[in-house]
Amino acid sequence: MELILLGPPGAGKGTQSKLLETRYGVAQISTGDMLRAEVKSGSAIGLEAKSIMDSGGLVSDALIIRMIGERIARPDCANGFILDGFPRTVPQAEALDELLHTTKVDLDGVIELKVDEAVLVARISGRFTCAKCGAGYHDLFKRPRHEGVCDVCGSGDFSRRPDDKAETVHARLEAYNAQTAPILPYYRAKGRLHSVDGMADMDAVEAQIEAVLRKIGVPAP
Ligand code: ADP
Ligand code: AMP
Repeated sequence: MELILLGPPGAGKGTQSKLLETRYGVAQISTGDMLRAEVKSGSAIGLEAKSIMDSGGLVSDALIIRMIGERIARPDCANGFILDGFPRTVPQAEALDELLHTTKVDLDGVIELKVDEAVLVARISGRFTCAKCGAGYHDLFKRPRHEGVCDVCGSGDFSRRPDDKAETVHARLEAYNAQTAPILPYYRAKGRLHSVDGMADMDAVEAQIEAVLRKIGVPAP
C-alpha cells in the first residue's frame, strides 16, 4: 500500500498513519518527525531546518525531496508506505510523481482529513507525546490510561513541540492554506483524492479511512 495522508497541522495525520502502520505493516513516513530527529542530532540538515520550523514556515523543497528519495529507498518501504506531512507543496507532489514513476511504484490514493480551523487550534494546543517512544496524546481528547504513564512503553517522560505554541500555530495554518492546499486540486485532477471528515472522533476517522481503502481496492490486512 502506498498512501498519502493530507491535511492541515493537527488534522490527525500522525494519529491515523501510526494506526495504519501497525495494521497494514507498512512504513509510516513523517517528514516532520524526520526533521525533528535531525534537529535533535545537531546535523547540518537540522541546523538548516530548525529556525524555519520554529517560525512555522516550510523547509526548502530541495532538502525535503532529497530526504524523501533516500527514505523510500530503504528496505522497510518494500511493503509500502504512508506519507504524513509530505508532499506539502505542488513542486514536492511533482517530484514525488517522478520518484514513483522511476521506481515503478503506483500510488493507491491520497486521503484528505478535513478539520475546521478552530478545532485544529484546540488539537495542536493540547498535543503532547511520549519522549521515549513517540506515542501521541492530547490533554483533552487522548489522555494516557494511567496519569503520567505512557500506554505504549510505560515511560513517564513526555514532551511538547516548540512549534505547537499559539504564536506559531497561526503561521503554520497560513503556510498550509497558501502552499499545501493547492495540492488538493492537483490530486483531484488525477482522480486520486478522497476526503474524510476529520472532525469525528479517532475511531470514526479510522473507520472512514478503512472504507476508502476498501473502495480503492487495497486488500484488508
Ligand atoms: P497531525 O499529525 O495532522 O499534525 P496529530 O495526529 O498529531 O495531527 O493530532 C493532533 C492532536 O489531536 C493530537 O494530540 C491527537 O491526539 C489529537 N487528535 C488526533 N485525531 C483526533 C480526533 N479525531 N479527535 C480528537 N483529537 C484528535
Ligand atoms: P509536521 O510535524 O508535519 O507538523 O511538520 C513540522 C514542521 O516541519 C513544519 O512546520 C515544517 O517547518 C517542516 N516540514 C515538515 N514536512 C515538511 C515538508 N514536506 N515540506 C516543508 N517543510 C516541512
